[in-house]
Amino acid sequence: MEVRGGNMSPKIVRVSVRDVRFPTSLEQHGSDAMHTDPDYSAAYVVLETDGGLKGFGLTFTLGKGTEIVGPGERSDPPGDGCSPKCCVGSVGESGGQGALMAFFYLAEDEMLREGYPAYTTSCAWLGYSDQQLQQLCTDALKSGWTKFKVKVGADLDDDVRRCRLIREMIGPENTLMIDANQRWDVSEAVGWVSELAEVKPLWIEEPTSPDDILGHAAISKALAPLGIGVASGEQCHNRVMFKQFLQAGALQFVQIDSCRLGSVNENLAVLLMAHKFQVPVCPHAGGVGLCELVQHLILFDYICVSASLSNRYVQTISDASLSYKIPGYSCEMLESSVQKHQYPDGEVWKVLPKK
Ligand SMILES: [Mg+2]
Repeated sequence: MEVRGGNMSPKIVRVSVRDVRFPTSLEQHGSDAMHTDPDYSAAYVVLETDGGLKGFGLTFTLGKGTEIVGPGERSDPPGDGCSPKCCVGSVGESGGQGALMAFFYLAEDEMLREGYPAYTTSCAWLGYSDQQLQQLCTDALKSGWTKFKVKVGADLDDDVRRCRLIREMIGPENTLMIDANQRWDVSEAVGWVSELAEVKPLWIEEPTSPDDILGHAAISKALAPLGIGVASGEQCHNRVMFKQFLQAGALQFVQIDSCRLGSVNENLAVLLMAHKFQVPVCPHAGGVGLCELVQHLILFDYICVSASLSNRYVQTISDASLSYKIPGYSCEMLESSVQKHQYPDGEVWKVLPKK
Protein backbone atom coordinates (compact mmCIF):
# COMPACT_ATOMS: atom_id res chain seq x y z
CA MET A 1 0.00 0.00 0.00
CA GLU A 2 1.30 3.47 -0.80
CA VAL A 3 -0.15 6.58 0.80
CA ARG A 4 2.54 9.18 0.40
CA GLY A 5 2.13 11.23 -2.76
CA GLY A 6 -1.30 9.77 -3.45
CA ASN A 7 -4.80 11.18 -3.06
CA MET A 8 -5.04 11.94 0.69
CA SER A 9 -8.87 12.08 0.66
CA PRO A 10 -9.66 8.83 -1.10
CA LYS A 11 -13.22 7.55 -1.60
CA ILE A 12 -13.93 3.89 -0.99
CA VAL A 13 -15.33 2.47 -4.22
CA ARG A 14 -15.27 -1.26 -3.54
CA VAL A 15 -15.49 -3.57 -0.56
CA SER A 16 -14.82 -7.30 -0.86
CA VAL A 17 -15.17 -9.98 1.82
CA ARG A 18 -13.68 -13.45 1.31
CA ASP A 19 -13.92 -16.60 3.41
CA VAL A 20 -10.40 -18.02 3.81
CA ARG A 21 -9.87 -21.24 5.78
CA PHE A 22 -6.73 -23.22 6.59
CA PRO A 23 -7.30 -26.93 7.43
CA THR A 24 -5.30 -26.81 10.67
CA SER A 25 -7.51 -29.47 12.29
CA LEU A 26 -5.87 -32.15 10.14
CA GLU A 27 -2.73 -31.98 12.31
CA GLN A 28 -4.32 -30.69 15.54
CA HIS A 29 -2.68 -27.27 15.26
CA GLY A 30 -4.72 -24.89 17.40
CA SER A 31 -6.41 -27.62 19.43
CA ASP A 32 -7.40 -26.87 23.01
CA ALA A 33 -9.80 -28.06 25.69
CA MET A 34 -12.83 -26.48 23.98
CA HIS A 35 -11.91 -26.55 20.31
CA THR A 36 -10.83 -30.04 19.32
CA ASP A 37 -10.79 -29.61 15.52
CA PRO A 38 -10.37 -25.92 14.68
CA ASP A 39 -9.67 -24.76 11.15
CA TYR A 40 -7.93 -21.42 11.53
CA SER A 41 -9.80 -19.06 9.24
CA ALA A 42 -10.52 -15.45 8.45
CA ALA A 43 -13.11 -13.14 6.98
CA TYR A 44 -10.73 -11.15 4.79
CA VAL A 45 -11.76 -7.62 3.83
CA VAL A 46 -10.23 -5.46 1.11
CA LEU A 47 -11.25 -1.82 0.66
CA GLU A 48 -10.37 -0.20 -2.66
CA THR A 49 -10.36 3.54 -3.27
CA ASP A 50 -10.76 5.73 -6.31
CA GLY A 51 -7.05 6.59 -6.16
CA GLY A 52 -5.87 3.00 -6.29
CA LEU A 53 -5.07 2.91 -2.58
CA LYS A 54 -6.13 -0.31 -0.83
CA GLY A 55 -6.67 -1.26 2.80
CA PHE A 56 -6.57 -4.84 4.09
CA GLY A 57 -8.21 -6.16 7.25
CA LEU A 58 -9.36 -9.46 8.62
CA THR A 59 -11.21 -11.12 11.45
CA PHE A 60 -9.98 -14.41 12.86
CA THR A 61 -12.46 -17.28 13.22
CA LEU A 62 -12.30 -21.05 13.60
CA GLY A 63 -14.09 -21.83 10.31
CA LYS A 64 -17.86 -21.70 10.48
CA GLY A 65 -17.61 -18.43 12.40
CA THR A 66 -16.73 -16.74 9.12
CA GLU A 67 -20.28 -17.39 7.92
CA ILE A 68 -21.56 -15.31 10.85
CA VAL A 69 -18.89 -12.63 10.81
CA GLY A 70 -18.66 -12.19 7.04
CA PRO A 71 -21.97 -10.32 6.61
CA GLY A 72 -20.93 -8.07 9.52
CA GLU A 73 -17.87 -6.94 7.62
CA ARG A 74 -19.03 -3.67 6.20
CA SER A 75 -18.34 0.00 6.51
CA ASP A 76 -21.81 1.05 7.78
CA PRO A 77 -22.89 0.47 11.41
CA PRO A 78 -24.79 -2.71 12.35
CA GLY A 79 -28.55 -2.40 11.79
CA ASP A 80 -31.60 -3.06 13.95
CA GLY A 81 -31.52 -5.96 16.33
CA CYS A 82 -27.80 -5.81 16.97
CA SER A 83 -26.13 -3.54 19.48
CA PRO A 84 -23.20 -1.66 17.97
CA LYS A 85 -21.04 -3.32 20.57
CA CYS A 86 -22.51 -6.80 20.42
CA CYS A 87 -20.09 -9.63 19.90
CA VAL A 88 -20.55 -10.40 16.19
CA GLY A 89 -20.92 -6.72 15.32
CA SER A 90 -17.66 -5.98 17.07
CA VAL A 91 -15.84 -8.81 15.36
CA GLY A 92 -17.11 -7.73 11.94
CA GLU A 93 -16.35 -4.10 12.71
CA SER A 94 -12.84 -5.17 13.57
CA GLY A 95 -12.08 -6.47 10.09
CA GLY A 96 -13.63 -3.48 8.33
CA GLN A 97 -12.09 -0.87 10.54
CA GLY A 98 -8.82 -2.75 10.46
CA ALA A 99 -8.73 -2.19 6.73
CA LEU A 100 -9.60 1.48 7.18
CA MET A 101 -6.86 1.94 9.76
CA ALA A 102 -4.35 0.93 7.13
CA PHE A 103 -4.60 4.54 5.99
CA PHE A 104 -3.04 5.81 9.22
CA TYR A 105 0.61 5.50 9.90
CA LEU A 106 2.12 5.18 13.37
CA ALA A 107 5.77 5.92 13.89
CA GLU A 108 6.37 2.35 14.88
CA ASP A 109 8.63 0.77 12.29
CA GLU A 110 11.62 1.83 14.34
CA MET A 111 10.13 0.25 17.48
CA LEU A 112 9.49 -2.98 15.60
CA ARG A 113 13.20 -3.32 15.04
CA GLU A 114 13.88 -2.92 18.78
CA GLY A 115 11.85 -6.01 19.69
CA TYR A 116 9.21 -6.71 22.35
CA PRO A 117 9.06 -9.64 24.83
CA ALA A 118 7.10 -12.51 23.28
CA TYR A 119 5.87 -15.99 24.14
CA THR A 120 4.92 -19.00 22.06
CA THR A 121 1.94 -21.35 22.16
CA SER A 122 3.14 -23.41 19.22
CA CYS A 123 4.89 -26.12 21.29
CA ALA A 124 1.98 -27.33 23.39
CA TRP A 125 -1.40 -27.55 21.70
CA LEU A 126 -3.62 -30.00 23.53
CA GLY A 127 -3.76 -32.56 20.72
CA TYR A 128 0.04 -32.97 20.47
CA SER A 129 1.81 -36.12 21.67
CA ASP A 130 4.49 -35.95 24.38
CA GLN A 131 7.11 -36.69 21.73
CA GLN A 132 5.85 -33.77 19.66
CA LEU A 133 5.92 -31.50 22.72
CA GLN A 134 9.51 -32.45 23.45
CA GLN A 135 10.68 -31.92 19.90
CA LEU A 136 8.92 -28.58 19.49
CA CYS A 137 10.10 -27.38 22.89
CA THR A 138 13.69 -28.35 22.07
CA ASP A 139 13.48 -26.50 18.77
CA ALA A 140 11.95 -23.43 20.45
CA LEU A 141 14.64 -23.31 23.14
CA LYS A 142 17.30 -23.53 20.43
CA SER A 143 15.61 -20.63 18.65
CA GLY A 144 15.84 -18.51 21.80
CA TRP A 145 12.29 -18.73 23.16
CA THR A 146 12.07 -18.21 26.94
CA LYS A 147 8.28 -18.08 27.51
CA PHE A 148 5.95 -20.98 26.77
CA LYS A 149 2.18 -21.47 27.02
CA VAL A 150 0.66 -24.91 27.54
CA LYS A 151 -2.96 -25.84 26.81
CA VAL A 152 -4.66 -27.60 29.73
CA GLY A 153 -8.14 -28.47 30.92
CA ALA A 154 -9.18 -31.80 29.38
CA ASP A 155 -7.60 -34.27 31.82
CA LEU A 156 -5.82 -33.39 35.08
CA ASP A 157 -3.34 -36.30 35.03
CA ASP A 158 -2.38 -35.46 31.45
CA ASP A 159 -1.96 -31.80 32.36
CA VAL A 160 0.31 -32.60 35.32
CA ARG A 161 2.45 -34.87 33.14
CA ARG A 162 2.67 -32.43 30.22
CA CYS A 163 3.35 -29.37 32.37
CA ARG A 164 6.07 -31.21 34.32
CA LEU A 165 7.62 -32.26 31.03
CA ILE A 166 7.71 -28.70 29.73
CA ARG A 167 8.92 -27.22 33.03
CA GLU A 168 11.73 -29.77 33.18
CA MET A 169 12.79 -28.90 29.66
CA ILE A 170 12.67 -25.11 30.00
CA GLY A 171 14.16 -24.99 33.50
CA PRO A 172 13.17 -22.80 36.44
CA GLU A 173 14.38 -19.55 34.93
CA ASN A 174 12.03 -19.55 31.94
CA THR A 175 8.34 -18.64 32.03
CA LEU A 176 5.41 -21.05 31.73
CA MET A 177 1.75 -20.08 31.30
CA ILE A 178 -1.29 -22.35 31.15
CA ASP A 179 -4.54 -21.88 29.20
CA ALA A 180 -7.80 -23.76 29.87
CA ASN A 181 -9.94 -22.10 27.17
CA GLN A 182 -12.97 -21.63 29.48
CA ARG A 183 -13.23 -25.32 30.34
CA TRP A 184 -13.97 -25.20 34.10
CA ASP A 185 -16.48 -23.79 36.54
CA VAL A 186 -15.11 -21.59 39.31
CA SER A 187 -14.41 -24.12 42.06
CA GLU A 188 -13.09 -26.66 39.55
CA ALA A 189 -10.70 -24.03 38.19
CA VAL A 190 -9.30 -23.27 41.63
CA GLY A 191 -8.82 -26.96 42.46
CA TRP A 192 -7.33 -27.89 39.07
CA VAL A 193 -4.87 -24.97 38.97
CA SER A 194 -3.82 -25.60 42.57
CA GLU A 195 -2.76 -29.09 41.42
CA LEU A 196 -0.62 -27.47 38.73
CA ALA A 197 0.94 -24.87 41.05
CA GLU A 198 4.09 -27.03 41.37
CA VAL A 199 5.11 -26.08 37.80
CA LYS A 200 4.87 -22.41 38.78
CA PRO A 201 2.70 -21.00 35.99
CA LEU A 202 2.76 -17.21 35.66
CA TRP A 203 -0.92 -17.22 34.78
CA ILE A 204 -3.98 -19.36 34.19
CA GLU A 205 -5.72 -18.12 31.06
CA GLU A 206 -9.50 -18.31 30.60
CA PRO A 207 -10.11 -20.59 33.60
CA THR A 208 -13.90 -20.32 33.25
CA SER A 209 -16.66 -18.73 31.15
CA PRO A 210 -15.24 -15.54 29.59
CA ASP A 211 -18.41 -13.67 30.63
CA ASP A 212 -18.16 -14.58 34.32
CA ILE A 213 -16.57 -11.46 35.77
CA LEU A 214 -17.21 -12.30 39.41
CA GLY A 215 -16.11 -15.89 38.79
CA HIS A 216 -12.78 -14.61 37.51
CA ALA A 217 -12.54 -12.36 40.57
CA ALA A 218 -13.10 -15.33 42.90
CA ILE A 219 -10.48 -17.40 41.07
CA SER A 220 -8.01 -14.48 41.19
CA LYS A 221 -8.49 -14.16 44.92
CA ALA A 222 -8.09 -17.90 45.53
CA LEU A 223 -4.94 -18.23 43.40
CA ALA A 224 -3.17 -15.07 44.57
CA PRO A 225 -1.50 -16.86 47.53
CA LEU A 226 -0.04 -19.37 45.04
CA GLY A 227 1.49 -16.56 42.99
CA ILE A 228 -0.62 -17.43 39.95
CA GLY A 229 -2.44 -14.64 38.10
CA VAL A 230 -5.59 -14.86 35.99
CA ALA A 231 -5.39 -13.81 32.34
CA SER A 232 -8.38 -13.33 30.06
CA GLY A 233 -9.86 -11.13 27.35
CA GLU A 234 -9.58 -12.96 24.03
CA GLN A 235 -13.37 -13.50 24.08
CA CYS A 236 -14.13 -10.13 25.72
CA HIS A 237 -16.08 -8.20 23.15
CA ASN A 238 -16.26 -4.63 24.38
CA ARG A 239 -14.67 -2.06 26.66
CA VAL A 240 -17.50 -2.16 29.19
CA MET A 241 -16.79 -5.81 29.95
CA PHE A 242 -13.11 -5.01 30.39
CA LYS A 243 -14.01 -2.09 32.67
CA GLN A 244 -15.93 -4.38 34.97
CA PHE A 245 -13.23 -7.08 34.92
CA LEU A 246 -10.72 -4.45 36.01
CA GLN A 247 -13.02 -2.87 38.61
CA ALA A 248 -13.65 -6.29 40.14
CA GLY A 249 -9.95 -7.16 40.38
CA ALA A 250 -10.76 -10.18 38.21
CA LEU A 251 -7.71 -10.04 35.92
CA GLN A 252 -4.01 -9.73 36.56
CA PHE A 253 -3.22 -9.82 32.82
CA VAL A 254 -5.42 -8.13 30.20
CA GLN A 255 -5.53 -10.00 26.91
CA ILE A 256 -6.97 -7.71 24.28
CA ASP A 257 -7.70 -9.27 20.91
CA SER A 258 -7.31 -7.17 17.77
CA CYS A 259 -10.33 -8.77 16.08
CA ARG A 260 -12.69 -9.57 18.97
CA LEU A 261 -12.94 -5.94 20.01
CA GLY A 262 -14.23 -3.34 17.56
CA SER A 263 -10.76 -2.74 16.18
CA VAL A 264 -8.39 0.06 17.06
CA ASN A 265 -10.67 2.53 18.88
CA GLU A 266 -12.10 -0.05 21.28
CA ASN A 267 -8.68 -1.55 21.93
CA LEU A 268 -7.23 1.86 22.78
CA ALA A 269 -9.94 2.40 25.40
CA VAL A 270 -8.95 -0.89 27.05
CA LEU A 271 -5.24 -0.02 26.96
CA LEU A 272 -6.00 3.22 28.79
CA MET A 273 -8.18 1.52 31.42
CA ALA A 274 -5.59 -1.20 32.01
CA HIS A 275 -3.03 1.53 32.62
CA LYS A 276 -5.33 3.23 35.12
CA PHE A 277 -5.65 -0.05 37.04
CA GLN A 278 -1.93 -0.82 36.58
CA VAL A 279 -2.68 -4.20 35.02
CA PRO A 280 -0.28 -5.28 32.24
CA VAL A 281 -1.65 -5.90 28.74
CA CYS A 282 -0.51 -9.13 27.08
CA PRO A 283 -2.49 -9.35 23.83
CA HIS A 284 -4.04 -12.53 22.56
CA ALA A 285 -2.83 -13.55 19.13
CA GLY A 286 -1.73 -16.67 17.31
CA GLY A 287 -4.78 -17.00 15.04
CA VAL A 288 -4.96 -15.94 11.42
CA GLY A 289 -3.48 -12.45 11.16
CA LEU A 290 -3.74 -11.65 14.87
CA CYS A 291 0.01 -11.51 15.45
CA GLU A 292 0.38 -9.05 12.59
CA LEU A 293 -2.36 -6.75 13.89
CA VAL A 294 -1.66 -6.94 17.59
CA GLN A 295 1.98 -5.93 17.29
CA HIS A 296 0.81 -2.42 16.38
CA LEU A 297 -1.48 -2.20 19.42
CA ILE A 298 1.16 -3.38 21.87
CA LEU A 299 3.71 -0.96 20.49
CA PHE A 300 1.17 1.83 20.89
CA ASP A 301 0.73 0.71 24.50
CA TYR A 302 4.48 0.82 25.05
CA ILE A 303 5.11 4.10 23.25
CA CYS A 304 2.03 6.10 24.27
CA VAL A 305 0.46 4.56 27.38
CA SER A 306 2.40 2.26 29.70
CA ALA A 307 6.06 2.90 28.74
CA SER A 308 6.73 -0.38 30.53
CA LEU A 309 7.77 -3.88 29.51
CA SER A 310 7.26 -5.30 33.02
CA ASN A 311 5.16 -8.49 32.90
CA ARG A 312 4.19 -7.64 29.32
CA TYR A 313 4.47 -10.32 26.68
CA VAL A 314 2.98 -10.51 23.23
CA GLN A 315 1.82 -13.84 21.84
CA THR A 316 3.35 -14.66 18.52
CA ILE A 317 3.72 -17.43 16.00
CA SER A 318 5.23 -17.68 12.55
CA ASP A 319 2.59 -17.37 9.89
CA ALA A 320 3.95 -17.77 6.41
CA SER A 321 0.62 -16.96 4.81
CA LEU A 322 0.80 -13.26 5.61
CA SER A 323 3.19 -10.61 4.45
CA TYR A 324 4.05 -7.41 6.25
CA LYS A 325 6.58 -5.15 4.69
CA ILE A 326 5.45 -1.66 5.62
CA PRO A 327 4.21 0.01 8.83
CA GLY A 328 0.51 0.64 9.47
CA TYR A 329 -2.47 -1.29 10.86
CA SER A 330 -3.10 -3.37 7.78
CA CYS A 331 -2.89 -7.03 6.98
CA GLU A 332 -2.62 -8.00 3.34
CA MET A 333 -2.70 -11.73 2.72
CA LEU A 334 -0.76 -13.29 -0.12
CA GLU A 335 -3.24 -13.53 -3.00
CA SER A 336 -1.96 -17.01 -3.87
CA SER A 337 -2.76 -18.16 -0.33
CA VAL A 338 -6.25 -16.58 -0.37
CA GLN A 339 -7.09 -18.33 -3.65
CA LYS A 340 -5.77 -21.66 -2.44
CA HIS A 341 -7.67 -21.57 0.89
CA GLN A 342 -10.86 -19.73 -0.09
CA TYR A 343 -13.85 -21.69 1.25
CA PRO A 344 -15.40 -23.79 -0.23
CA ASP A 345 -13.88 -23.51 -3.74
CA GLY A 346 -10.12 -23.16 -3.15
CA GLU A 347 -7.94 -26.09 -4.19
CA VAL A 348 -7.31 -27.12 -0.57
CA TRP A 349 -11.03 -27.46 0.21
CA LYS A 350 -11.95 -29.20 -3.04
CA VAL A 351 -10.27 -32.37 -1.77
CA LEU A 352 -11.33 -32.13 1.90
CA PRO A 353 -14.73 -32.96 3.38
CA LYS A 354 -16.93 -29.88 3.89
CA LYS A 355 -17.68 -28.99 7.49
MG1 LIG B 1 -6.18 -18.50 25.10
